[in-house]
Amino acid sequence: MYHLSRFNTSWQKGGDFFLHNSLSNSFIKLDNSLYDLLKAKKITDKLPIDLIEYLKKNYFIIDNIDDDINQFRKLFTISRYRSDVLNLTIAPTTFCNFKCPYCYEEGIEYEMMDTNTEKEICKYINSSQEKNVAIVWYGGEPLMAFDKIVSISNYVIKCGKYLKTSIVTNGYLLTNEKVEILKSYNVKNIQITIDGIELEHDKTRVHINGKPTFWKIIENISYILNETDIFCSIRVNISKQKNEFQNVLNFFNDKFGGLRYNVHSAFIRDSSGLLQKIKPLSCNEGMSFQDKVVFQRTSYTKNNSKQYPILKINDCTARSLNSFVISPSGDFFKCWEDIHNKDLAIFNIHRSNKIRNNLLNKYLFSADVLTDEKCIKCNILPICGGGCPVSRIKSLNNADYDHDCDVYKNNIEEFLTYYYENTTN
Ligand code: SF4
Ligand code: SF4
Repeated sequence: MYHLSRFNTSWQKGGDFFLHNSLSNSFIKLDNSLYDLLKAKKITDKLPIDLIEYLKKNYFIIDNIDDDINQFRKLFTISRYRSDVLNLTIAPTTFCNFKCPYCYEEGIEYEMMDTNTEKEICKYINSSQEKNVAIVWYGGEPLMAFDKIVSISNYVIKCGKYLKTSIVTNGYLLTNEKVEILKSYNVKNIQITIDGIELEHDKTRVHINGKPTFWKIIENISYILNETDIFCSIRVNISKQKNEFQNVLNFFNDKFGGLRYNVHSAFIRDSSGLLQKIKPLSCNEGMSFQDKVVFQRTSYTKNNSKQYPILKINDCTARSLNSFVISPSGDFFKCWEDIHNKDLAIFNIHRSNKIRNNLLNKYLFSADVLTDEKCIKCNILPICGGGCPVSRIKSLNNADYDHDCDVYKNNIEEFLTYYYENTTN
C-alpha cells in the first residue's frame, strides 16, 4: 500500500481528470479509473509496475507518510547552506539616472562606493573559502558606477575565482561597448524593466532630465538579443492603476520572438511605506491578493502559455548562509530591500569583526517555513517556498499583518487547467 503525497492536487474539469504534484512539479491527465483509485486512496501493487514506478518517481505516491516533506526539507536545506558559491548582490552606487515615481529610493541619501571600500570588499572575496563567486550588480543604477563593476570583476578573476554575474539595470546606459565588457565577466542574465510601450513606459520609467527612455532601452536590448547569448529578463511593474504586461509581452514576441528573453510581471508593493508619501503617482497602489490571482490567471490565457509554476527550493539571500547584499559604504545586509537602512546591517566591511549575530540569526531562522505547520501541510509548498522571509518575520511579530500566500494557493487547479487548454489546443 502506498500513500498519496501531500503535494498532490487532483481535479476534474468537464470530462477530463488532472493531477499535479508540486514537489516534482509534474502535471498529468489521468484516465477515469486511475482518478477514481487515487480519490479512493487505493493505489496498490496490483497496478502495472511501470505505472507504479512513474507515480513514485514523480512523488505522486510515496512509500512512507513523510517521504515527500522530507525530500523537500533536504533540497531546501541544501540550497540554504551551499558552501561552494559566495553569492553577493553589490550596489556600487545608489545614484540613479531615473526618477521613477514608485521607487523606494526616493528621499534617501545617495552614495557612491569609494576606493577604500572597494578594496576591502575585494579582500573579503579573496579570503572567502568559496571557489565560485556569483555577483548580482544592483543599485541605484549600477551602470552609473561602471568603473567599480569593471575593477571588482577584474580583481575576482585575477584571484582565481570562477566569476558568474548578472545585472539589474534600467538599461538606458547599456551601450554595446558595455555589453561586450560585461560579456567578458560571464554575465548570464540582464534584468531590465519595461513598463509599457513608448509613452506608457516613459510615464513611469522617467529619466532624471525628463527625456524619453523607451526606444533607447529597446535599442540596447536589441543588441543584447541579436548579438550575444546573454538572457534578457524583462520585468513589467504592475499595479491596480497600471498593467501593461500583455502589451509588453506582445511587443517582445513580435519584435524579438524566438530570441533569449522572458517577460514577467512584478507586483508593486510598498514595503518601505514611501509610496503613500510620494505624490503625484501613477502607480501608487499595490494589488490585493484577489487582484493578483485574477491578473496571473488572465496572463495564462493570452499568448503566454510558457507560464507554468516554477519550483522554489532556492530560498532568497535572507535565508542563505553564503549570501549578502552590499551597499556602497560597505554595509552587509541580508535583504535586498534593507539596503538604505543601516540599522539592519549585519556588519560593515570596515568593521567586519563586529557581526550582529542576533540579527543575522533572525534573518536565517525566524518564522521559518520548515517549522510552520500551515506550510508543511500545504499542497503547493514546493512552488511557493513560503514566500518572502522578511514578510513572514513581520507577520510573526504583528497580529495586524498577514503574510500573503502564493497566488497558486487554492487556485492551482484553475491555473493548470488554463495552461492545459493553452498548450494543447
Ligand atoms: S527577504 Fe523578501 S524582500 Fe528581502 S530579498 Fe528576500 S524575498 Fe526579497
Ligand atoms: S505561504 Fe501559504 S501558499 Fe505558501 S507554503 Fe505557506 S501556506 Fe502554502
